[in-house]
Amino acid sequence: MRAWIVENQRPMTERPMRFVELPAPVAEGTQVRIRVTACGICRTDAHIAEGDLPLQRRPTIPGHQVVGMVDQVGDKVTRHAVGDRVGTAWIGGACGSCAECLDERENYCEQFQGNGWHLAGGYAQYMTVEESFAHSLAGVGLDDVHVAPLMCPGVTACATLRLARVDRGTRVGLFGYGPTAFYSLRLARSEGAEVLVSTRGEERRKLAIREGAVWAGSTERDVMPDKLDAAIVFPASGRLAELALAAVRPGGVVVSAAIDMPGFAVRDYRSNFWGRDFRSLYNVRREDVQCIIRKARSEDLTMPVRVVEPEQAQEVLQQVAAGKFPDLAAVIRW
Ligand SMILES: [Zn+2]
Ligand SMILES: [Zn+2]
Repeated sequence: MRAWIVENQRPMTERPMRFVELPAPVAEGTQVRIRVTACGICRTDAHIAEGDLPLQRRPTIPGHQVVGMVDQVGDKVTRHAVGDRVGTAWIGGACGSCAECLDERENYCEQFQGNGWHLAGGYAQYMTVEESFAHSLAGVGLDDVHVAPLMCPGVTACATLRLARVDRGTRVGLFGYGPTAFYSLRLARSEGAEVLVSTRGEERRKLAIREGAVWAGSTERDVMPDKLDAAIVFPASGRLAELALAAVRPGGVVVSAAIDMPGFAVRDYRSNFWGRDFRSLYNVRREDVQCIIRKARSEDLTMPVRVVEPEQAQEVLQQVAAGKFPDLAAVIRW
């Protein structure tokens, strides 16, 4: 099979991935093999390629927004059959028996395994996954390239809205407007929340208004009108975290969706921090994956995506890492 591998981590500008021919993996025991049809490209893939996240296998195949068809099953598989349409996300393994796993908090499991990180991912024509980490897409009307980004930005949107306690009547501010914020806006509106967006690009602000935000302003110049019940910060930006803390009312909550954050300061404890909850998303659970799949069965979650050829993956990931990718999301079509 054709696959992108990361063997030696180095900056994206030095092309850390190699496009190679490998034997296809074989499904064993409780694993299924997915013939991958679409895999979203995520900034986290660049963190793995560059070394911000240490390699957990060498080489690894990146990719954790995977959609495809089950084409082989291990001899102990009971949940899926050959021909099933499935997706798999960032969570590819957890022990299932620790206190966190037993308390529906498997995202904190010490033996958490990430697809495309600890486990070979979807930048390949085939991948294997434990059957309980492959999710049925039966009843989802979107085509594969539009389902792929649901598997990371969509899952993350479900998880952050849960942490931010967003429901009917919540006034929620989104800081940054990339793919995860795009889905968050759709989902929050369908819950009956009021959504405000602060982001840099003019085009993104226009898109947010078209998507139903009641206000969209510039992170450089504009301050959100009135206090928020909740704020979600998407980019790894300490400055945005500070702006978000200043924008929520006491009793409100700020959620960081980033996997890393440069230092930020509480400059005025009484007006910017006192009484607020600051929470950060730490991995995702299978329940969060199920959440977005349920939503996709009943709501229109079409996001504009750029479909790319497998050969272009490195070049596109370079642009994503540099913040220069012009579209909302990129998806490899295998
Ligand atoms: Zn991702
Ligand atoms: Zn566990």
